[in-house]
Amino acid sequence: MSKSSTIPAVRGFRDVLPEECAHWQRLEAAARDLFARYGFGEIRLPILERTELFARAVGETTDIVEKEMFSFRDRDKEETAVALRPEATASVVRAYLESGLVHRDRQARLFYAGPMFRRERPQRGRYRQFYQIGAEVLGRDDALADAELLVWLVRYFDQVGARGTRIELNSLGDAACRPAYRERLRQFGLAHLDALCGDCHRRLQRNPLRLLDCKVADCRAVIERAPVMRDSLCAACTAHFDEVRLLLDQERVPYVLNLRLVRGLDYYCRTAFEIVAEGEGLGAQNAIGGGGRYDGLVAMLGGPEVAGVGFALGLDRVAMATPAAKDAAPGPAALVLPLEPRAVAPALRLATQLRDEGLVVAVEPAGRSLKALLGVANRRRARLAVILGPDELAAGRATVRDLASSADRRQALDLGAPGAELARWVRAEVGAS
Ligand code: AMP
Repeated sequence: MSKSSTIPAVRGFRDVLPEECAHWQRLEAAARDLFARYGFGEIRLPILERTELFARAVGETTDIVEKEMFSFRDRDKEETAVALRPEATASVVRAYLESGLVHRDRQARLFYAGPMFRRERPQRGRYRQFYQIGAEVLGRDDALADAELLVWLVRYFDQVGARGTRIELNSLGDAACRPAYRERLRQFGLAHLDALCGDCHRRLQRNPLRLLDCKVADCRAVIERAPVMRDSLCAACTAHFDEVRLLLDQERVPYVLNLRLVRGLDYYCRTAFEIVAEGEGLGAQNAIGGGGRYDGLVAMLGGPEVAGVGFALGLDRVAMATPAAKDAAPGPAALVLPLEPRAVAPALRLATQLRDEGLVVAVEPAGRSLKALLGVANRRRARLAVILGPDELAAGRATVRDLASSADRRQALDLGAPGAELARWVRAEVGAS
């Protein structure tokens, strides 16, 4: 029979193995704990949405919608294009409207965690399936809501030990002042047409703001000199931004102004921010999170005029910017070693009993020598080995070996109901509470 070839994962998709998962779980647990303190409830959203949700919310002319969505026709409903969600804010707003939260709990504070999908060029820190933890505050247009989110973020980074994070902050204006700025930017682009890439030529026609997030080096050099939104902010946007900054200063939230910061999604207005990790390891993909205000989005998705502000953290990248636990996970409290087939059933009974009591227990298959099994126990850094061999079965007593001292104890083992007494003893021995 010819050997089958292995089947690799799809390009840009990867597995997160237990050791890395343990790190991620700590990051997620810290986020959940902090969200609870800030009054956020969790929302679990579908991964598949109608493509038009993102086209409308994120913007037809954004890279995400133009180039990066995994969008396809549903086999049963050919007329419906569906997409793997590239981000979750649009879904949160859809759910807020569809579920009636907009009426029941207009100032909903929601958080989510889960995978997002973008067809970007894969590289270290950039995947086609990546994970985000995000939060949205609906129904609040006041600067306090923005400031609270930024305080949450610095507290979170402190708590998980993220090294060298920097918040970059800008205001993108609103429907009152942005059109005039867009026009200034368009004029600037037209004056520098020769130096801009083909994509930027298109952006200039359809959505000049997108010039600001072109990644082509030559374009970047031109855009460095482009007019900035700040000089066009209206009085209301200026006052809002000033208040956000005042609150951040009061709470000693460090940030830098980045007047050329725009976000890759059209729906943002006023406050926009990005969190950059300066530490080693992330390379070019050093944006670990971003967010901002999206006051027009709820109405854009068919709801009433309701404001909103939120952020998303890239969990893959936050994990890269935070230290994993130094100590490897502890080994099992006990490893149960049946030396012969007859010992398998009592071994399972004993293991189950110990596990029911809350201990971490592993049980090995029968059929290997005691020496081989003790080797396994050492490699797995078990505290105790519980040996069930022919002698033990005959005597109705298990041998319990302390693997640190190699001292053996014989412990009664009632084969009818093995484990109860032994479990108590093991528990006391490993000092579990
Ligand atoms: P965005 O809203 O696009 O700025 O995304 C928020 C955060 O998600 C970013 O700051 C990244 O940390 C993370 N992120 C976005 N795209 C990817 C990707 N392709 N791979 C890994 N992380 C990503």
